[in-house]
Amino acid sequence: MKHKTVDGILDRALMGYDISLAEGLVLLKQTDPEAIAAIRMTADKLRHTQASDTVTYVINRNINFTNICEQHCSFCAFRRDDGDVGAYWLDWAQILEKATDGVRRGATEICMQGGLNPQAKINDKSLPYYLKLVETIKQEFPQVHLHAFSPQEVQFIARVDGLEYADVIAALQDAGVGSMPGTAAEVLDDEVRRVLCPEKIDTATWLEIVSTAHKLGLHTTSTMLSGHIETPEQQIGHLEKLRSLQQTAINQGYPAKITEFIVLPFVGQEAPKPLRRRVGRDQPILNDALLLGAVARIFLGNWIPNHQPSWVKLGLAGAKEALVWGCNDIGGTLMEEHITTMAGAVGGTCMEVETLQMAIASIGRPYQQRDTLYQKV
Ligand code: SF4
Repeated sequence: MKHKTVDGILDRALMGYDISLAEGLVLLKQTDPEAIAAIRMTADKLRHTQASDTVTYVINRNINFTNICEQHCSFCAFRRDDGDVGAYWLDWAQILEKATDGVRRGATEICMQGGLNPQAKINDKSLPYYLKLVETIKQEFPQVHLHAFSPQEVQFIARVDGLEYADVIAALQDAGVGSMPGTAAEVLDDEVRRVLCPEKIDTATWLEIVSTAHKLGLHTTSTMLSGHIETPEQQIGHLEKLRSLQQTAINQGYPAKITEFIVLPFVGQEAPKPLRRRVGRDQPILNDALLLGAVARIFLGNWIPNHQPSWVKLGLAGAKEALVWGCNDIGGTLMEEHITTMAGAVGGTCMEVETLQMAIASIGRPYQQRDTLYQKV
């Protein structure tokens, strides 16, 4: 039977109020099909008012420039030590070749992230290496939007070179970085992070770096790695931290903010065994990801209107389903994806524009190409 409290929460959300942490938790804990259907419908209605019926997509190309990484996140099937089978580190010509291929295929965005490779230095410094990555692409393609380097990569550069986060972000921005991927957030809860990514930045540092980016005028995205060891309390706590981060950016009048929220369900197939065993499954549970996405729309939508599923993690059919659970964007073509594919994801590594458009049209919604910052193309 549908809980009366659920109706009350959903009614308040439809009236435009922000729901509280406790209310978000009630929604996340629902198992009754009728209640879940009502949550889905509310998320879908809010998506309509907060973001319209049009489903957007971006033509982008991923470049993961190295998988050599000094860290050992327990979910990561991508990382290698130098010299391991499958370890790679692209040289400048290879990076330029991939960027050229992306632009030739219509990409407005290059998304660039990589492992934390201690050898990636120029004159024994990390920042000049990263600046050269940016310049390699921007010199050739100044019009392309470079969506690059997670908060973890910013901290890595700052740590290696003994710099402030603001110095690193400003230098990357000056060189031509257009926005920062809000990855490495995983779950913003230090208890979860101790298991998932003990060497990564803690919650406070992630929030500090993203807020610094906003202050400096660099837009970011936001993400959540879901469906592993985290509890509903930790999930809603994560959403609450993102919401207040965005409220700070908006209320303080910072020149940039979070442009979108993406749920990234955990794919365990090729992940290191301990976490895979603990989670006990290889592929994400679609229904869990859909409910979380719907609650995220209800919880965050007043502040972050753009919500995106991950077709890499859920497959195109799952991502399409998410469009009626609160999502208004289907993401990018990517053209090449290593991180999740090496984890055993079924979604594939490249999506043709026509395939994305057909998926959107098949649910009776209009589609529109956008750029990284959600302007029409
Ligand atoms: S998730 Fe990133 S930081 Fe963690 S091990 Fe993998 S590549 Fe390294």
